[in-house]
Order: sequence, then structure tokens, then C-alpha cells
Amino acid sequence: MPNGMVVVDRERCKGCGLCVGVCPFGVLELSATYNSAGYPVVSASHPEKCTGCTLCAQTCPDVALEVYREKAVAGSAVGSSAETPTDHR
Ligand code: SF4
Ligand code: SF4
Repeated sequence: MPNGMVVVDRERCKGCGLCVGVCPFGVLELSATYNSAGYPVVSASHPEKCTGCTLCAQTCPDVALEVYREKAVAGSAVGSSAETPTDHR
């Protein structure tokens, strides 16, 4: 299964929580910190569980999430990987 990484743009996040609800693996949660606009921001509390499915980024109405997916390269040495950025803007 591919591993993913989600990156939160804190200044775009409005703390609506939609991404928290849609993530099938409980990666995201609303943190106790606020951005400069006064919104509570989401953070990846369990980043190791992210599969890179992109559901959160597709759901976010404020385009505050970017998802990167790491795939093993067939036939390559252990540890080699290719990163594929997935941009939904
Ligand atoms: S990419 Fe998928 S698994 Fe990763 S945080 Fe977003 S919804 Fe959760
Ligand atoms: S869906 Fe977007 S705006 Fe809403 S909490 Fe998640 S990252 Fe923030």
C-alpha cells in the first residue's frame, strides 16, 4: 500500500473539520492552535497512517491540503521510491 503525506496550509484552513471526518484512517484532527485569521487549524496527528488517498484534499473547500504519495518502484532496490505530488488547486 502506498504511503502518503498530507501538508496543511495553515493560513488557508478555516477549521471546518470536513477533512477530519472524511479521512478513513484518522490521520487528521483539529489542533488547539490558531492561524493569523483566528481559525483553529487542522494538523496530521497520525501522519504514519496516511495512504495518500487524497479524499481530504478533494473535500477541503479552501484548498488548504496537499497530498503527496510515495510508491515503491518495481524492480528497484529496497528503499528506492518515487514521489508524486498531487495538486488539487
Ligand atoms: S490523503 Fe487520505 S489517508 Fe491521507 S490524510 Fe488525506 S484522507 Fe487521510
Ligand atoms: S477541510 Fe480544509 S478548511 Fe476545513 S478543516 Fe480541513 S483543511 Fe481546514
